[in-house]
Amino acid sequence: MILTVHALVGAAIGSKIHNLWIVSIVSIIIHFLLDRLPHRDYGPDKKWKNLSRGRLLFFGSQIFIDFLIAVSLTYWIIVFLPSSGRYILVGVFFSLLPDGFILLYHFNEIFFKKQIKILKKYYLFHYANHIPENKNPLVPGILIGGLLIIISIFLILH
Ligand SMILES: [Zn+2]
Repeated sequence: MILTVHALVGAAIGSKIHNLWIVSIVSIIIHFLLDRLPHRDYGPDKKWKNLSRGRLLFFGSQIFIDFLIAVSLTYWIIVFLPSSGRYILVGVFFSLLPDGFILLYHFNEIFFKKQIKILKKYYLFHYANHIPENKNPLVPGILIGGLLIIISIFLILH
């Protein structure tokens, strides 16, 4: 699922729950639950190290733009709801963190050509949590992403 969706869901959690521990735990759990829904991710599921430089740059810039959108939306939500600011920030952080480790895994694999055992284990766990590619139709994936954005914005505004 794209980072913007995860971030908005995290912001919605932070806007509703004003306890930093609960926000952190709920955000992480919801991340893994959302990953079980049909959705699109960046790049191929495996073997990023075998991609050409051009493909890597393409996926890398998509992820970077997505991250910039997530960060700027978070900024504007906090400006809109300053009293929930730190809960929103923590919600967004812990909603993105599970994918942050995945990026770290790919980054390490591509640039340092070595495996960190625990990171690999985590990567396989995160991967297994997703539905298989052949049961991941494009249109429902996009609709679910759009619906999650709408629900999150609704929760943040109300
Ligand atoms: Zn994930």
